[in-house]
Amino acid sequence: MQGNITLTMIKPDAMRSGYIGKILDHIVSGGFSIRAAKVLHLTHYQAEKFYLVHKDRPFYRDLVEFMSSGPILAAVLEKENAVDAFRQLIGSTDPAKAETGTIRNLYGASIQENAVHGSDSDENALIEAAFFFNQFERV
Ligand code: ADP
Ligand code: MG
Repeated sequence: MQGNITLTMIKPDAMRSGYIGKILDHIVSGGFSIRAAKVLHLTHYQAEKFYLVHKDRPFYRDLVEFMSSGPILAAVLEKENAVDAFRQLIGSTDPAKAETGTIRNLYGASIQENAVHGSDSDENALIEAAFFFNQFERV
């Protein structure tokens, strides 16, 4: 059975560029309900922890620097088959390859500064949602 939640972050590049409203509108227009949301500034340590699965990738250090470089918006989103549906809405990791009209195509700047995060599996969606929100912070 497919899960119905996913975890997104509006990344520091998109926050700095003032795309928060446009991206949230795109998400809600895409049929997702926002079940939790907050703006926060990840510490270096928190960004390391969030992206620990990528610790051996060449881009890990830069990614941690980038993700702790300014405020983000983290949110739990609900929709049927949320993980796959959201990855379709955001497009490929590299904005240059992201399908026309996807969030990364519209608002991403580079393969690193690609505007938004989306969970890659139901299992990780639950882990990532719990990373940011306790049970009283979600509806
Ligand atoms: P996605 O966010 O599409 O699931 P990954 O999980 O592979 O992509 O990578 C996590 C994040 O690391 C990406 O969203 C992007 O910000 C960054 N990243 C991925 N690949 C690269 C790369 N080749 N160079 C620089 N940054 C990258
Ligand atoms: Mg990923």
